[in-house]
Amino acid sequence: KLASRETSERTIIQIGDLKIGQDFLLIAGPCSVESEEQMFETAQAVKQAGANMLRGGAFKPRTSPYAFQGLGLKGLKILEKVGKEMELPVVTEVLDTRDVSWVCEYVDVLQIGARNMQNFSLLKEVGKTNKPVVLKRGMYSTLSEWLNCAEYILNEGNPQVILCERGIRTFETYTRNTLDLSAVPAIKELTHLPIIVDPTHGTGKISLIPPMSFASVVAGADGLIIEVHHKPEEARSDKEQALRPELFAQLSAQVLKLRKYY
Ligand code: PEP
Ligand code: MN
Repeated sequence: KLASRETSERTIIQIGDLKIGQDFLLIAGPCSVESEEQMFETAQAVKQAGANMLRGGAFKPRTSPYAFQGLGLKGLKILEKVGKEMELPVVTEVLDTRDVSWVCEYVDVLQIGARNMQNFSLLKEVGKTNKPVVLKRGMYSTLSEWLNCAEYILNEGNPQVILCERGIRTFETYTRNTLDLSAVPAIKELTHLPIIVDPTHGTGKISLIPPMSFASVVAGADGLIIEVHHKPEEARSDKEQALRPELFAQLSAQVLKLRKYY
């Protein structure tokens, strides 16, 4: 299999000067792109704090069809503009095969969300692009199922897959999901692909994001993806789990210091 460990040395994915799989990838930004002002404010703050990639959803996979679905093309244009001006590569989620090729014109990295991990036609479509893909773990998926999904992308000729542990559903209800940090060293045993952690969706609780970020670094994660909003109380999605920029800056300083030892 293309994803398995014996096939090759660790995969390094290069975007400009950034070497993912070697340099620590710190992705930050809001759950959803809401306005130019929001994206500029957040991007400036997270870049200053050490983030090296900007996130922002333009197509949101919401539980309710009546919840905010994202700004679509308008959101992508804002994301592209802010990323260019702030010199940060940008990542956004794609939900639909019909959107993949044109979304590529606006972003540096594509994200496949947990709910679409096993959307095989979507996986094949992103596998036909030349963009790195963040592949989130499905909330009911085993490591083997997850790696088979990476295989779908690799098999189409795109070797640039970044796995993302974002928590799984268990009987526990205190946290939004149960962050499976054992997946990090396990994935390292099984594949040569980089793996990052999303402690935001993994816990859904602001107080748990810093400790789980530190634990991710110690477990050997190649990066983190964290939701940050300049005014969390006004966020149009996931407001209860968005860090304020000041809190993100504190977290980032500690993460980058800790990373030197791992
Ligand atoms: C997100 O990153 O905003 C998101 C929807 O994450 P997930 O697919 O992990 O739920
Ligand atoms: Mn979110």
